[in-house]
Amino acid sequence: MDRFVQFLRRQIHIDLELHGQDRHDEESGNAVHRCHIGPQRGFRECELKTRVLTQHQDCGTGRGPCDVLGDSYPPEDQRGCPTLALLGLPYVDRPGYASRWLP
Ligand SMILES: [Zn+2]
Repeated sequence: MDRFVQFLRRQIHIDLELHGQDRHDEESGNAVHRCHIGPQRGFRECELKTRVLTQHQDCGTGRGPCDVLGDSYPPEDQRGCPTLALLGLPYVDRPGYASRWLP
């Protein structure tokens, strides 16, 4: 599961970089919005994803909240829990995403 969590963290980091570039372009009067949303909303969405990821990062190891609820996947599944699997959905077309991670 660590590989999937690391993949998700990397994608959020990439999004933050893109939103930072958008904010810089907006401030300099050259707004392009590579992500098709404004940078402020993009930053808030990255914060949301990071918080959800942090809450569920141990799911599937026996120590996560979804393990307690009986809603996690077995360790060999790599996705951890349905919440983490869904968190990966925006990134299915990014390099490194494995089709077995689909929710
Ligand atoms: Zn979970």
